Amino acid sequence: MRTLEEAETEASACTRCRLSSGRTQVVYGTGSPHADLVFIGEGPGFHEDKQGIPFVGAAGQLLNRLLEEVGIRREDVYICNVVKCRPPGNRDPLPDEIDACKPWLEEQLELIDPHVIVTLGNFATRFVLGRQLSISRVRGERFPLGQRTVIPTFHPAAVLHGGGESSRQMESLRQDFRTIHRVLAEQPEPVEEQLGLF
Ligand code: URA
Repeated sequence: MRTLEEAETEASACTRCRLSSGRTQVVYGTGSPHADLVFIGEGPGFHEDKQGIPFVGAAGQLLNRLLEEVGIRREDVYICNVVKCRPPGNRDPLPDEIDACKPWLEEQLELIDPHVIVTLGNFATRFVLGRQLSISRVRGERFPLGQRTVIPTFHPAAVLHGGGESSRQMESLRQDFRTIHRVLAEQPEPVEEQLGLF
């Protein structure tokens, strides 16, 4: 298997779909290559396209705050998107664009090998679980996926554009982040650490 860095280098020159012609740069992903927890959003927006880093705009600020509130450091997790290039005008990614980008995300998950995957919003949830689920019905639930646990929650941008800070959606998001923290804490330590060998 190659490294995440090697995969990113190849992805940075990707022309597998039409989104490549409108992007400033590929937004592959950011964070720890050995993260226990991976967040998957929809696709880069304006600021992400400019900076090459996912979730740096308003939705990213909210994501940072939610992480901080439950004591998870952003640098300890990995953050990426279903599509790696910005759809023009922030439109939804099209099915053929999602299909073309799919091998990048599949490889990312294989290389990082996280215990927990959090899908932000409908796109990521449907992509990862392979079903036409509605985020408002399944948010906060735990879905087993092989050795991993998938926890869908609202996309932070949807909360910002919806009810905002004092909305029920925001309260649900906070509640789901507490669930994420709990599920992470339940993961067994690596065997070496359990045995106290190192
Ligand atoms: N929204 C997303 O889905 N991803 C980002 O990286 C930024 C905003």
